[in-house]
Amino acid sequence: MGHSGKRVSGPTVGRLSLYRRLLNVLRDEGVSHVFSRQLAAMAGRTAAQVRRDLMVVGYSGSPGRGYDVARLLASLREFLDTPGGQNVALVGVGNLGKALLSYFAGRRPNLRIVAAFDIDPGKANRVINGCRCYSSQRLAEMLAAKGIRVAIIAVPAAAAQDIADRLTACGVRGILNFAPVRLRVPPGVHVEDLDMIVSLEKAAYFARQGGPRTGEAADA
Ligand code: NAD
Repeated sequence: MGHSGKRVSGPTVGRLSLYRRLLNVLRDEGVSHVFSRQLAAMAGRTAAQVRRDLMVVGYSGSPGRGYDVARLLASLREFLDTPGGQNVALVGVGNLGKALLSYFAGRRPNLRIVAAFDIDPGKANRVINGCRCYSSQRLAEMLAAKGIRVAIIAVPAAAAQDIADRLTACGVRGILNFAPVRLRVPPGVHVEDLDMIVSLEKAAYFARQGGPRTGEAADA
């Protein structure tokens, strides 16, 4: 649910986030207006889908000039973002966790990884790739102190469910899970699984087949 109060589906939120990324690129290139068909071509969607999605955020362009890029970005920000930003925790500061920290550092002012946790005492009480790392024993204390409701899991598969249980018990309501396990979470908690190996295998499969059937890429 955006803070405007409208409930929208996960795929719609994903597409809105993608449109925002594309619009940021256009803005940086000095483009002031864009038509739905242009945004659709960039996003690999249809113009009708783009228009339907953007109606959700409450901003419609003008038929003659298209969408005002700056105003549309402001509407997307209002719809997608929490005012003042949201603090995020990372659990598991290994190869993947460190890469995530360096990627996110200073890049997403609205979604800040403000605390990282690891079971390895050698990583606790250090700043790693711009983020303070704590012993995972301090999870509950630090989540409460920093008002964290979103977390990333980058621990080995065997530890992931226990971490998810502890996170949700502390009030986390959104999890980005990189561990290759299906997490069980209480109702009201959203889990987003991300698996680069599945995506790479898909890319390799379709490279061999000469591409997906028409329309399939857009449905995935
Ligand atoms: P890694 O071994 O380099 O790092 C794991 C880290 O988690 C270590 O620092 C370890 O000390 C810590 N850890 C272990 N148990 C913990 C616990 N109970 N609490 C807190 N920290 C704990 O592994 P990696 O290569 O960074 O991979 C991490 C996870 O991400 C694995 O589950 C891996 O399968 C997965 N992964 C997923 C993708 C993807 O695309 N989904 C890609 C790479 C890795």
